[in-house]
Amino acid sequence: FVAKLGQGLSRSSSRLTEGLAALGRRKLDDDTLEELEDLLIASDLGAKVAARVATNLSKERFDKEIGEEEIRLALASEISDVLKPREKIVDFSDGTSPRIVLFVGVNGSGKTTTIGKIASKLKEQGAKALLVAGDTFRAAAIEQLTVWGDRAGIPVMSKPTGADAAGLVYEAIEKAKAEDLDLVLIDTAGRLQNKAELMAELEKVVRVIKKLDPTAPHDVILVLDATVGQNALSQVEAFRNTAGVTGLVMTKMDGTAKGGVLVAIAEAYDLPIHFIGIGEKAEDLRPFSAEAFSKALVG
Ligand code: GDP
Repeated sequence: FVAKLGQGLSRSSSRLTEGLAALGRRKLDDDTLEELEDLLIASDLGAKVAARVATNLSKERFDKEIGEEEIRLALASEISDVLKPREKIVDFSDGTSPRIVLFVGVNGSGKTTTIGKIASKLKEQGAKALLVAGDTFRAAAIEQLTVWGDRAGIPVMSKPTGADAAGLVYEAIEKAKAEDLDLVLIDTAGRLQNKAELMAELEKVVRVIKKLDPTAPHDVILVLDATVGQNALSQVEAFRNTAGVTGLVMTKMDGTAKGGVLVAIAEAYDLPIHFIGIGEKAEDLRPFSAEAFSKALVG
């Protein structure tokens, strides 16, 4: 898994990996610490974490000779400490029935694919689930979810493109209740005319869900694309305010990006990170591991 995560380097992570390599073996003095801090900031980890990592590193080793490998190990360990409290597998089978799970995120972040991957896992576990093609704006999203559902043997509820998403969600939850299903996984639109409209639509979907079950949605999972870098922070902010995000998934970790911004997000928000997407296939979803992620990040 770490090996797979380590394939390819992103602009930001290659800066980190190459930057660390360029440091070579040297004395851990103020200049080196400042260089390290800059490297971490350039890799989207955020100024706060970067400063803390540098401080912690200097505590034990200031003015001592330090090699590249030692720096890498120390950095990975510091970063893992930041991420560890966010490591949390989402428990879809805690007895809430039907458990209503909303997937949110900007267009192209990987929502539909992530739902498909989770559906495949659920089928293996024998859960009675329903997928809801709530991205009614994109014909491709509806088709794509249907393909995933068919492949996993899980029913998909959809309406023609342009249909009211909240109406579809309402019907889906009623069906899930009537048929005593365990889980409802709801896809949502990631792009409308503008951001305000997108957020208004999401709010409407959440309102409809609450009307049918005041304790729902039980999970609101924000799907983030590792390749967007710093932009992920403003996405967390926007979706948290609108939909009340309860957990995160970061996709496209198989490509060139390593998602350093997840460290900044872990520092700023008390949000569990559930999964990492490492490809387009059903099996390309991994539970988030702070240790594996941190090791891959420092190369
Ligand atoms: P949505 O608009 O948020 O529903 O995004 P999609 O699920 O349609 O994904 C957008 C594109 O990203 C598709 O081509 C997916 O196959 C691709 N994708 C999603 N997750 C991953 C991932 O973890 N790795 C890679 N390489 N591609 C992914």
